[in-house]
Amino acid sequence: MASRPQLITDGDALRGAVRDARQRGQTVGLVPTMGALHDGHLSLVDAARAECDLSVVTIFVNPTQFGPKEDFRQYPREPTRDLSLLAGRGCDIVFAPDNDSIYRPNHATYIDVGPIGTILEGEFRPTHFRGVATVVMKLFQLAPANRAYFGRKDYQQTIVVRQMVADLDVPIDVRVCPTVREADGLAMSSRNRYLTPDERRRAPVLSRSLRIAEELVGGGERNVSAIRQKIAHEIESVGDVQIQYIAIVADGTLTPVERIDGPTTIALAATIGKTRLIDNTVIG
Ligand code: AMP
Repeated sequence: MASRPQLITDGDALRGAVRDARQRGQTVGLVPTMGALHDGHLSLVDAARAECDLSVVTIFVNPTQFGPKEDFRQYPREPTRDLSLLAGRGCDIVFAPDNDSIYRPNHATYIDVGPIGTILEGEFRPTHFRGVATVVMKLFQLAPANRAYFGRKDYQQTIVVRQMVADLDVPIDVRVCPTVREADGLAMSSRNRYLTPDERRRAPVLSRSLRIAEELVGGGERNVSAIRQKIAHEIESVGDVQIQYIAIVADGTLTPVERIDGPTTIALAATIGKTRLIDNTVIG
């Protein structure tokens, strides 16, 4: 049994621990999460452990990235289970601050990520990326790591974080790791637990529709509207799933393509019942 991670709740203590490690010549890998950990999160921890001497996982349900009608209050919080999962993965430090120490009462500064924060997810969650960028920047300040690990599952988030890091000259290497899926293809997410058994049975249609798109492109289809139509048709075939968007963009960007003639990402969002799910894949 691996030793338990050091649990830190104070920002200054975290900064001190990370600085000490770096002064000793160690490399530090940071994994920001909102907890309720699953194998997707743990794959980021594995990547950080493989590439860095010290791994730091943060667990903080960030209120500023939730809209007023979203699930901030009901978002799952399981600190004890999270800690034992992280102990099992050999994580070194867990930072689990309380809300007031991250957002002090007079907090006033937010990061505006520009137009990339207003499209796709941003159209349905207008203040989401402002909250994400702000908390990620704060975590980068509190844990001045060499590398930070993010999941490909939140594709637009990886673009937003890379943009912020470049624009604001943040000295941290952003690493993006593959999406981890359930056996039936559903991308792992802390929100999957909101699904009723019937919704859970229908949810794999999202990844299935992306696989169909991959096969179409593998078979020579290059037309973006034909691909989008096939995806929508597949998703709608299961009933009671509301598509929010199906974006087909040049991989590594949010710029729509007119034809598939290079690495292309298909990113989509849909609601099943009350639960909003996202997924994406790269093709071409
Ligand atoms: P969250 O706790 O949802 O904020 O996610 C924390 C990090 O885990 C983010 O970088 C996510 O992209 C990543 N993540 C969440 N789900 C998965 C997954 N299924 N596969 C890989 N990474 C994931």
